[in-house]
Amino acid sequence: MMKIYADNAATTAMSDTAINAMIPFMKEYFGNPSSLYSTGQVVAEALQNARERAAKCLGCEAREITFTSGGSEADNQAIVSAARIGEKKGKQHIISTAFEHHAVLHTLNKLEKEGFEVTLLDVHENGIVTPEQVKAAIRPDTCLVTIMYANNEIGSVQPIPEIGAVCKEMGVLFHTDAVQAAGHLHINVKEQNIDMLSLSGHKFHGPKGTGILYSAKTIPLTNIIEGGSQERGKRGGTENTAGIMGLVAALEEACGNIDAVTEKLIPLRDKLIAGLSEIPHSVLNGDRNHRLPSNVNFCFEGIEGESLLLFLDDLGISASSGSACTSGSLDPSHVLLAIGRVHDVAHGSLRLSIGENTTEEEIDYMIQSVKSVVERLRAMSPVWRDLQSGKREFIL
Ligand SMILES: *Cc1c(COP(=O)(O)O)cnc(C)c1O
Repeated sequence: MMKIYADNAATTAMSDTAINAMIPFMKEYFGNPSSLYSTGQVVAEALQNARERAAKCLGCEAREITFTSGGSEADNQAIVSAARIGEKKGKQHIISTAFEHHAVLHTLNKLEKEGFEVTLLDVHENGIVTPEQVKAAIRPDTCLVTIMYANNEIGSVQPIPEIGAVCKEMGVLFHTDAVQAAGHLHINVKEQNIDMLSLSGHKFHGPKGTGILYSAKTIPLTNIIEGGSQERGKRGGTENTAGIMGLVAALEEACGNIDAVTEKLIPLRDKLIAGLSEIPHSVLNGDRNHRLPSNVNFCFEGIEGESLLLFLDDLGISASSGSACTSGSLDPSHVLLAIGRVHDVAHGSLRLSIGENTTEEEIDYMIQSVKSVVERLRAMSPVWRDLQSGKREFIL
């Protein structure tokens, strides 16, 4: 049986480059970079070098890079920092979207309890918000716009440079959760008008528990973790030196391969989309063109996504329905609801996120497997029987 990993949006396997970059910092260069003796200082130098290399990948300065424990921490710190700057000026309004990652949405919920007002922009059916929507929502008391670069479930890519330009023109800070985009799409924070950006190592073949918060040097950050003077005093705790080396090596490698990987993935993705589109009463989620080269997401009427995943697992395919954090709960994905899918349809969702090692043979196998499993599940489904007999109306 084939064994296919098609959940690269949830996490990726580490690359050899990343692993090899880490090993010396666990064995030989284990010193604490804050120490004054040379065993520590050599690590401090390596850390500074890694910061410069990361900055180069993003188009910013080394001092604008903060190493974090991942995308979630970077999102938390960016949003809380902007909120603290805002409230000092009496500005307590934040603009975001309904289909953000929970690291963003739950941080916004926390700020709402403190008295902040949050506007969540409606997302179009294609999973894209427009700069015009952002412009119309900005008020004199808006202190932050936070909109993700690419959606983790449906893969839609937002017009980030244009949204950034609107924010710049209106004098509002702009943060983007670029966890799905970094290492996969070309990013340059200065050219794309981004004030703050979050990324995560394990989404581009780096280690889990590593991430970066880029924030323009003019923005004073608020600590999420209090402690020593590491990361310019903005994040306490001895640096995860090996993790940072793996993160930066993976980032450099991924950024250097974007064009080649994109060229390889788009035909595979499109073949998968075309194959799954042949399943009756189905719909592709997310924009057909403005989407990540790795992302395929469908809803199939009359089935449960969870059953689909279990049957696919039996056929050797690792896939996802909704996001990893919500699977296990019976609530349908907030992303699919945000783009207007009704509950019954949203329940029957499937995300296949491919990677540079995916082969055409695997694509063929996935198409054939999903087709046969959907057919089998529908044959067993009372909902499907009602749809067939006309007792219930088809939505798709
Ligand atoms: C995975 C993910 C995160 C969380 O990153 P971690 O490093 O796992 O904390 C945040 N935002 C998006 C869009 C993601 O896909």
